[in-house]
Amino acid sequence: MRERVALVTGASRGIGRGIALALAAQGWAVVINYRGQADAAQATAQAVTAAGGRALVVQADIGQAADRARLAAAPLAEFGRLDLLVNNAGMAPRRRMDLLETTEASYDEVMAVNLKGPFFLTQQVAKTLIELIEAGKVARPSIVNIGSMSAYTSSTNRGEYCLSKAGVGMMTALFADRLAEFGINVYEVRPGIIATDMTSAVKERYDRLIGEGLTPIRRWGEADDVGRAVVALAEGYFPFSTGEVINVDGGFHLRRL
Ligand code: NAP
Repeated sequence: MRERVALVTGASRGIGRGIALALAAQGWAVVINYRGQADAAQATAQAVTAAGGRALVVQADIGQAADRARLAAAPLAEFGRLDLLVNNAGMAPRRRMDLLETTEASYDEVMAVNLKGPFFLTQQVAKTLIELIEAGKVARPSIVNIGSMSAYTSSTNRGEYCLSKAGVGMMTALFADRLAEFGINVYEVRPGIIATDMTSAVKERYDRLIGEGLTPIRRWGEADDVGRAVVALAEGYFPFSTGEVINVDGGFHLRRL
């Protein structure tokens, strides 16, 4: 089989790196996007290469239109094809603030990176994928959005983050609907509590909550848990399913009595 190519946003660290490595282990070439941490992105690239995939590192801020255009063009320029977009890059509010104090600046920044950026990157990449399909260069490419349990879980000290992830849920439905006619399936992977830099500041609190049984599976999630789910979707084993949400959360979403 020919090498398949994935573009993973925010792949320098955390969940994005886990996704890149899981794909590389299956032989995928990976375009590794990052915003500021070049050394971390290079470390991911080395790990991807060691795992068996080819790697290309591209700095781009998902929140900036010109950067998105440059990023969207990179896979074709380097590898001549694209089979998978993973919208993973995301940020928590720089400062957790009560809902009654949330600032417009924080709202705008979080929305630009977590929702507006992925929306317009997906729009751009979708057009490229349609062209590649019509030219017979790729078959059944897919798109995976990394959402969050915050899509339906209220955290009143980071409301703008919750709103952005709720938006990713609808973004998944919209693109799944629009792109089905072209044979492009769109999925959302919805992580729970995953051990990364993003959650390091609240580690002790989550250690305690998990220990008390917050999640039926009583452990932190790892980036590799999310990576495996993305690989399962990207390998094409769900051809008649689109718009699906896969919870990778140790069962957090279950209603329990
Ligand atoms: P992380 O450890 O903070 O890593 C964030 C990654 O995104 C880094 O690679 C970072 O690049 C990149 N990034 C941030 N802003 C960017 C921008 N404007 N443009 C391009 N890249 C950008 O976060 P994580 O925990 O792995 O989270 C990854 C995704 O999973 C996010 O969408 C997050 O909301 C979601 N998620 C996380 C959890 C969790 O428990 N950790 C739970 C649910 C959902 P640099 O290295 O260059 O800064």
